[in-house]
Amino acid sequence: SLNVKAIRKQFGTRQILNSVDFEVQPHDIHAIVGVSGSGKSTILRIIAGLETTDGGDVLWNNKSLLNIPAHKRRVTMLSQSALLFPHLTVGENVTLATRSRSRKQAEEWLQVVRLGDRYDAEIHELSGGEQQRVSLARALAAEPELLLLDEPFTNLDPKLKVDLQRFIRDLVKELKLTAILVTHDREEAMLMADRVTLLESGEVTRTGTVEQLYDTAPGFGDFVMLEGEL
Ligand code: ATP
Ligand code: MG
Repeated sequence: SLNVKAIRKQFGTRQILNSVDFEVQPHDIHAIVGVSGSGKSTILRIIAGLETTDGGDVLWNNKSLLNIPAHKRRVTMLSQSALLFPHLTVGENVTLATRSRSRKQAEEWLQVVRLGDRYDAEIHELSGGEQQRVSLARALAAEPELLLLDEPFTNLDPKLKVDLQRFIRDLVKELKLTAILVTHDREEAMLMADRVTLLESGEVTRTGTVEQLYDTAPGFGDFVMLEGEL
């Protein structure tokens, strides 16, 4: 499991994360839900090793990750702005991410995201949703134990979004990965996650299963209606 313990982070004089605690169970999809600026991406960046902390610890299977360099952590992040190399083909983008630079493995990951016949395609020949699936294949090709999803569906149209949400959920379950999904969208959290942590201004206000939060968190259900108005 992943254990985030009393993580604190300050940028300048602003306290961005104020003793954040939560635990992610193995093979769960754990959503972190909060409004813009609440510190969600900062948490993921700390777990990925892209950002330092001012205190606290991040344990993966009871061992601290904090002193392990980013590239040695079995953690990959998929974000909305996951940029593919435009001058490389689809397949080359994925091959580069595999641990042994293996074309064969890249082909297999492209099959997993249902782009098995597009290895030689240029990036610009793909639709936005297809490019996002290439980014997913690339993230998976690194064989992470922990997959960090930072609002990866933001730029997709509603139909494609729901398809990809289901697809990623099924894939995480099938591959027995552990995933953290950061989102401001509670509907998305309910659709995809097993457990949810609510973050407000850098503090955890609630954590529990989707069912527990739906029943007991003030406004958890209401917020779904408000979403459309934001
Ligand atoms: P969003 O939903 O908009 O992506 P978020 O919850 O992911 O928001 P963060 O990106 O974690 O929020 O940022 C939290 C706060 O920390 C913001 O106010 C942001 O301006 C600030 N912040 C983040 N990174 C830095 C940085 N490198 N230097 C200074 N301030 C930063
Ligand atoms: Mg963010």
